[in-house]
Amino acid sequence: MKDFSLREGDAKTSIFGSDEMLKPSPVERIPDAPTTPEIAYQMVKDETFAQTQPRLNLATFVTTYMDKYATKLMNEAININYIDETEYPRIAVMNAKCINIMANLWNSPEEAKWKSGAVAIGSSEACMLGGVAAWLRWRKKRQAQGKPTDKPNFVISAAYQIVWEKFAQLWQIEMREVPLTLDKPTLDPEAALKMCDENTICIVPIEGVTWTGLNDDVERLDHLLDEYNKKTGYDIPIHVDAASGGFILPFLDPHKKWDFRLKWVLSISTSGHKFGLVYPGLGWVVWRDKKYLPDEMSFSVNYLGADITQVGLNFSRPAAQILGQYYQFIRLGFQGYKAIQYNSMQITQYLHDEIGKMKPFVNYSDRVENPLFIWYMHPDYAKSAKWTLYDLQDRLRQSGWMVPAYSLPQNIESCVVMRIVVRQGFSRDMADMLLKDINDAVADLEKLEYPTTTRIAQEKNIAVESTLFTHTGYRCKCKK
Ligand SMILES: *Cc1c(COP(=O)(O)O)cnc(C)c1O
Repeated sequence: MKDFSLREGDAKTSIFGSDEMLKPSPVERIPDAPTTPEIAYQMVKDETFAQTQPRLNLATFVTTYMDKYATKLMNEAININYIDETEYPRIAVMNAKCINIMANLWNSPEEAKWKSGAVAIGSSEACMLGGVAAWLRWRKKRQAQGKPTDKPNFVISAAYQIVWEKFAQLWQIEMREVPLTLDKPTLDPEAALKMCDENTICIVPIEGVTWTGLNDDVERLDHLLDEYNKKTGYDIPIHVDAASGGFILPFLDPHKKWDFRLKWVLSISTSGHKFGLVYPGLGWVVWRDKKYLPDEMSFSVNYLGADITQVGLNFSRPAAQILGQYYQFIRLGFQGYKAIQYNSMQITQYLHDEIGKMKPFVNYSDRVENPLFIWYMHPDYAKSAKWTLYDLQDRLRQSGWMVPAYSLPQNIESCVVMRIVVRQGFSRDMADMLLKDINDAVADLEKLEYPTTTRIAQEKNIAVESTLFTHTGYRCKCKK
């Protein structure tokens, strides 16, 4: 005879003997009564079983590995609210030190002891802050000239990350997209300038384009923009969205000019939680000088022995990521970051070359500029193939890999590609395992007698939406 008092969720109740384990989890309403922490823990934990091993997820850019000291530091800081500066003044200073380090990695000319920048929850917030600053500077100038300020716009390649669509919508700033073609796979500076006018608040080149892994040519853009600004009398600036590249270029290509060495680059944003090697949510934005950071966006605190500028959309935010970033800077140093980024690039190059040799595939670009690349199906092969890259994605998923297939942005949207992002935690050995699984999957798919549903859909020219779209941050096909 069962003693039901043992099922009530007190200290005697065993987790899987409890009532809770017989009930569906709460969906609409808060449960009436409390339960034990063990039962609550089990329910939440079980619902968050990873769908795949985080390190086999080659879709995400975001850090999935930190060493145990970093993890310990961050866990110990889990209860710290960054905004409580009076309680934790050293964290505000640590944040300012991180901004200094970022600014110097990007060759900031600012001479102040504390450089102008801000911590953010990711590149999205950092991009918003860079964009809003450009808009407010433009508006102030227009107001001073007595000119209308109701039609701001910005110019970006069609391969923008979704944050720029949000920026355009939330602040009602027109987004002008420079289309890409298969021959011109990055932002075309001439075409970008043709879209500019007196209402352009900034141009946004991308270092480490999310869709392709390539870099926009900021140096050439800056050069042409300088002529353009001289000729027109405008002073359209550049905000560089360096979500990935901001932590790659300083280490692997320090001579390439894309940062504050260029005249019109007034702000740069990056994701600390991508190649900054910190767990999510961390982003950074840095301005060339305090004068480009509108007063309306910043407030200064002076009780830290110096003026520290604070900027952000959020008020409260976790501090742990700032500790994680500062730890990584100290732990790895310049050479340590370089070694990790170098390995990621070498492994990317290796995968790129091996996949390029496989009969069904063509690489999108010969160049590997960031630790990610994309490839597509050879058009001749595709004609008679009974499968698509979406099918390959599904097969690889069965072996635990997350390798997304997706269609490129407008103009070249008929091109379906597959992408690999190599992050710290992915070794040459794992690359070989992946290549074997790709080869096996292709061999299997080649045995198909009938075309797959995605192949039939492609034939009918129906865009196949990958279920991965929502997880991996690509633009979903939303209404414009
Ligand atoms: C990832 C990414 C973003 C958004 O970054 P989050 O850190 O995820 O907010 C913005 N721009 C580019 C180019 C990106 O790759």
